[in-house]
Amino acid sequence: MKRVFRAASLIQVAHARNLLLTDGIQSELRNQYLAGALGDLPMLETWPQLYVDDADEQAALRALARAAAAPAGSPWTCAHCGEVLEPQFTSCWRCGTSGAPTP
Ligand SMILES: [Zn+2]
Repeated sequence: MKRVFRAASLIQVAHARNLLLTDGIQSELRNQYLAGALGDLPMLETWPQLYVDDADEQAALRALARAAAAPAGSPWTCAHCGEVLEPQFTSCWRCGTSGAPTP
């Protein structure tokens, strides 16, 4: 098993795990309940962590890097047709109107 992700927040780790699942990569969540040991262990070692099979390591790292590179933001609504669009789109897929709000 290889560790591919860790974060202070279990929510972030759970999100990363979902991202991997979307790509069909199974991962194992470790340290889910270890925060109580904080102080006895190096801090990073107590963070929730994701592990994948050795064979999945590269694919998992790529998927996580891709997600990290995606623009942050919230969905926006097309002023022309009212379609709700994901933040990574800069124009409406339905009517072609551009106009994503700049973050
Ligand atoms: Zn539109």
